[in-house]
Formats: sequence, structure tokens, C-alpha cells
Amino acid sequence: MRALTVRPGERGSARVEDVPEPPESDGGILVRTVAIGICGTDLEIAQGAYGVAPEGERRLVLGHESLGEVLEAPPGCGFLPGDLLVGIVRRPDPVPCLGCAVGEWDMCRNGLYTERGIKGRHGYASERFRIEPEFALRLDPEIGLHGVLLEPASVLAKAWEQVDAVGGRVAEWEPQVVLVTGAGPVGLLAALMGVQRGLEVHVFDRVLDGRKPALVRELGAHYHGGSLDDLELEPDVVIECTGAGTVVFDVANRIGPTGVTCLTGLSPAGRKLDVDVSLLNRSLVLENGALVGSVNANQRHYEAAAAAIERADKRWLEHLITRTVPLSSFADALRRDPDDVKVVLDFRDGARGGGPRRAQ
Ligand SMILES: [Zn+2]
Ligand SMILES: [Zn+2]
Repeated sequence: MRALTVRPGERGSARVEDVPEPPESDGGILVRTVAIGICGTDLEIAQGAYGVAPEGERRLVLGHESLGEVLEAPPGCGFLPGDLLVGIVRRPDPVPCLGCAVGEWDMCRNGLYTERGIKGRHGYASERFRIEPEFALRLDPEIGLHGVLLEPASVLAKAWEQVDAVGGRVAEWEPQVVLVTGAGPVGLLAALMGVQRGLEVHVFDRVLDGRKPALVRELGAHYHGGSLDDLELEPDVVIECTGAGTVVFDVANRIGPTGVTCLTGLSPAGRKLDVDVSLLNRSLVLENGALVGSVNANQRHYEAAAAAIERADKRWLEHLITRTVPLSSFADALRRDPDDVKVVLDFRDGARGGGPRRAQ
């Protein structure tokens, strides 16, 4: 079967190649891949900056944002052939640590976890994959191709859970205004969940026009383009999705009293920024502000993400997926166009090939 693989650490090593059928040790459920979402992590891996192949192997099958259809499932496992399924990315560390031992592998304490398509385990970007029932989520068939947004949405469902947990230290904490920085897929999904919570949502991004501002407005949220300096807002919650040092510093400084800033973006290390850390200290102390980082997701967050995607406007979700690229044109999926939001690798064409398909 065909798979999209890379040699971790080697820039430009991505290729489609023939690989063996998925081993039964990957899990009892056999899945036919429908689509794989591509994100910044995949681009970093393809550029050789990140990623670890399984032990004893040189190449890594890419793909952690999965959507597939069950081909075979062990009786009584909760899945049936034909079910639409999303695979969870992380697997608990083998020790396991206190977090992994209770199913909170997203909060792993020893860093020995593995991740499909990222760290020490093959990903889902092959024509078929296998998975353990306990690391899979069945989706409402109505979701269709939008199910490929489940994994990125799960990361935001966790971020919102963190905001609630940290906000809970304040009596009568009732946030009203949320600022989301970054209008890529992660920021837009953060904004979607903010709107679904009935909050006043503001989204900031550098771009001034195009698809991103339109997507924010379609949600009923407010879009702010250009510079954060012009933004007069004292949010109760900030969901930071750019990972850009200057933005992180700026938003952490402008949080309102008892506010929570949740960082979800990753900045490349080594970029130094000349900032007034004492000022940041003053703002956080004097406002009882909180800064919290959040990564990955566990089963609970995937379920919350599925609920959010099911509730979302189908047309809006359709606009979020800006390009669907067949596996044979994988290089097109691994480059970014200026107006891209979510790019998806389409596996539905199989060996027949063919041009890009529109999302259904
Ligand atoms: Zn991703
Ligand atoms: Zn762990």
C-alpha cells in the first residue's frame, strides 16, 4: 500500500512509497484512510526539524490528523465496519507516569510518550492503518470529511478546559471577552469554541484581507488585522495560537484582572526578543493574571471536539478546508499558500489518481 513517509531530520525527504500492510500490533481495527490533515508540525517534520522514526527504522509514516473508515473490527470492540473513525495521536509512556496511568497522556510527566506520525510511531498517512479501539473515536457519519478537523479541535478543547480550570481559582469567574491570536485553523477552531460558549470573541492576525477575516466574521466574531498596538481590548481570556514571541509577550501584558492567557503555539527556539520582563511580571502580579501552556489532548478532549464540530455550521467548516490534495500530489500539501487555512490530503482516489477534489 502507498504511504507518505519522511526520513526524520532530513530536509526534503518526504515521498510516497510502498510500505507493508499495517501490523496487527498497531491494533485490532483495520481502517481505510479517507483523509489526513496537514499542519505546521507536519511541515516541520518534512523540513527535517522534528520527528522520530519508530525504533530500528529509518523512515516515519507521516500524518497525525486522521479520518478513516473501519474495514475490520474485532467483535464487541465498539466499532463496526463502515464506521467513521479518528485516531488519537499520543500513546502513554511505558512506565507509566502518574498522568499516563490515569489516561491523561496529554499531561505526561516523563516525556517518554510516543505519538503517531510524530514521535516513535508510524502515522496515519498510509492507505490503510490499524488502531487500538481505546485510542479511536467513532464519529457521526454526518460529519463526513470535516472529521479530519477533529484532531486539531481536540487540542483546543483541551486549551479551553485549561482556561476553565485556571479560571476556577477565582470566585464568580465569568469571562466575557476572549482574544484569539492567530487566524489559522487552530485559532479559528479556538474562536469557534469561544462563540459556542456565548463569549464575545475577537480574533487577531497579521493579514488584513482574504479568507481568514471572512471566516472570523462568518462565525459572528470580530476580526482585527495588522498590528496588536491598535487593539483596544482588555480580554478575560486569551488563547494564543501564533507562537510568535512578540505576540505572546504583548497579549500576556494586556490581560484584564484575573484573566487567563493560554499558550498553544510553538515558537522556534533561539529567536531572542528584547522585552521588558519586569513589565510582564508587574502586569501578571497586579492583575492576578495567569499564564498557562497547553499541548495535545486525551480521550475526553476528542469527545468535546467531536461535539463542537457536530454543532458547527457545515458551510463554515467547509470553508475552513481550503485545499484537498490527492496523495500523489503530496508536495502541494506540504507547501503553504498565503490564503491557506486547512490543507487536507485526500486518500479517496486510491490508485485511480485524478485531480484535487473539493471537500464534501
Ligand atoms: Zn497537527
Ligand atoms: Zn507519561
